[in-house]
Amino acid sequence: MKKLQNYIDGKFHAPISGAYIDNVDPSRGTVYSLIPDSGQEDIMMAANAAKAAFPKWSGLSIEERSKILVRFSQGIEDRMDEFVAAESMDNGKPVSLARQVDIPRAVSNLHFFATAILHFASESHYMEGVGINYTTRKPIGVVGCISPWNLPLYLFTWKIAPALAAGNCVVAKPSEITPYTAYLLSEVAAEIGMPPGVLNIVHGLGSNAGDAIVKHPDIKAISFTGGTATGAYIAKTAGPMFKKLSLELGGKNPNIIFADCDFDDMLSTTVRSSFANQGQICLCGSRIFIERPIYDKFKIAFAEKVSRMKVGIPSDPNTKQGAVVSKDHMEKVMSYIALAKEEGGSIVAGGNQVTLEAPYEHGFYLEPTVIEGLSFDCRTNQEEIFGPVVTLCPFDTEEEVLKMANSTQYGLAATVWTSDLKRAHRVANQIHSGIVWVNSWLVRDLRTPFGGVKSSGVGREGGWEALKFFTEPKNIFIKN
Ligand code: NDP
Repeated sequence: MKKLQNYIDGKFHAPISGAYIDNVDPSRGTVYSLIPDSGQEDIMMAANAAKAAFPKWSGLSIEERSKILVRFSQGIEDRMDEFVAAESMDNGKPVSLARQVDIPRAVSNLHFFATAILHFASESHYMEGVGINYTTRKPIGVVGCISPWNLPLYLFTWKIAPALAAGNCVVAKPSEITPYTAYLLSEVAAEIGMPPGVLNIVHGLGSNAGDAIVKHPDIKAISFTGGTATGAYIAKTAGPMFKKLSLELGGKNPNIIFADCDFDDMLSTTVRSSFANQGQICLCGSRIFIERPIYDKFKIAFAEKVSRMKVGIPSDPNTKQGAVVSKDHMEKVMSYIALAKEEGGSIVAGGNQVTLEAPYEHGFYLEPTVIEGLSFDCRTNQEEIFGPVVTLCPFDTEEEVLKMANSTQYGLAATVWTSDLKRAHRVANQIHSGIVWVNSWLVRDLRTPFGGVKSSGVGREGGWEALKFFTEPKNIFIKN
């Protein structure tokens, strides 16, 4: 069985403990590779390598760093089929989705920041008759990047790319549930001649390897995407060490549908915003609020479309719902469906586990599920499920829907469907979230600020925000 390895100082290493963790293929429920169970000593080795590489990497001209990162992005593109297959195998997502979204976006992330850095300028502030301030933005040093399992390479590169472009050296840990494309990325780093120690990829459990990154005194900034509880733990641990923190956390996003919207466009997009990637995208709209005059029309049309979505093996091009990521996660989602019923909800579509034919009979498949009849403040409507489950809730007024939309602890993203421009602005401005899509969903421009408010996180990624996070500003004043 294939044993993945850590990538430290430009070389491949077994974990110092010699221990490995099973890597499961969610489409079959079977172990297909082994992941290093790394710990503090492996992280120490990686941090030392990164520290040693930092003077040279940060001392390269921006053009030289940019060229290396462009080669890095090209290296993924050259092995596209392999990356696509690996991402689908590790995560359970349809191959078609990995091909259309995950891997192309990883290529774009690296290319975007490789070129963005060429245009990244610092500020100066002239004081008439007094002097001039100029601000330098230097890389921080060694930074840690920790990413989750839902969009594995997409989110891993979203952090690594700006960190490297800005001149930092990186110790990165992918989720132990989906490590394979990060391992392939380390092969690409070696192939394209990434200088040793600049990027170190260490595999292992969050509570072991992840924790060691957060606690390492030489790792000066942590960029983390994952659950809110883990984010809170990281903030508590890294805060007293005065590390810079970027935390992209959970969501429970509202999808607000007014009766005057373009119904067909809204309907097809809402199927995607509810169930893309088996609903395992932090930006999915899991609470759907529908203006009462179109509630029944929407419910019938939506349930019909959702019931026709094919739940199947990831490699089938007709599959719309692949496997969810793990047995634990499947059980968690099923427990929320049971909770919804206890809380008085009725199932409009789905609600069950799906057993496919051999050899996929032990895979983790769920029907896309639609539930109605719940109060906006029940647990099902307040807690993040992060799976193929959405709830429907009617509303009568803007004031009422805003109250319900803003009622959770989360504030990541929201969607508003209306053809009334004034209302679009009004509602978008009153939603408590970092991102609002009007008459669309998941349209991403990599230059825009990305992130959430309340328990959805601290800080913003994307564009200049990411390059600012990964640099330390220093203001220098010179008297006239
Ligand atoms: P987790 O918080 O469980 O894990 C995220 C990463 O952190 C993993 O690599 C994990 O390692 C690691 N980790 C876990 N514990 C620690 C620790 N104590 N110290 C350091 N690292 C640790 O999240 P999931 O992987 O379950 O991802 C799903 C969550 O991510 C959802 O809540 C979702 O909303 C959120 N998310 C947010 C996004 C955003 O942009 N706001 C985007 C995508 C997802 P391991 O898995 O190996 O244990």
